[in-house]
Amino acid sequence: MSDGNELANFASSSAGKIFELSKQCLMAHSARAVETYVAKQYNLGNYPIKIHIRDGYAAKAQSFAKAIISVEWCSIFIDSSLGKERQRRAIAHELGHVILAFEKRKESGRLERASDRLSEDGCGIFEEELCALHHRFNSDPNHRHEVLFPSLADHRLAS
Ligand SMILES: [Zn+2]
Repeated sequence: MSDGNELANFASSSAGKIFELSKQCLMAHSARAVETYVAKQYNLGNYPIKIHIRDGYAAKAQSFAKAIISVEWCSIFIDSSLGKERQRRAIAHELGHVILAFEKRKESGRLERASDRLSEDGCGIFEEELCALHHRFNSDPNHRHEVLFPSLADHRLAS
């Protein structure tokens, strides 16, 4: 990678690969936000938990994803054969379980993913409200400037 063209080609093709991959990283901002929130809210220091979202859950009735939660990491297993919206809502639901697990840990000292009726209803509310907030935000044309890059409107790729 010594000449300029080689580096330019590498940089350009990497940008394309990362962009394609980023389209598969569902609810990534929310996952990062939950990591930050949990760290601050439950005094765990800077980013002590890492949330991984991966394929490998066979969806059952009433459940479209499953979170395995520990203090340092959390894996949310999803079923990639489901539609994108269903997967995104399922991830939102499991993120609710992550927050709830840390909240309940304050009382019991144990960290576990609760699956009783009350907890499921609570995570259902979290899922719906988080997704509705995303929907409302992204539907508002006044917020588009936060995701667009007007300075690159004339870039060779933009057309
Ligand atoms: Zn649940």
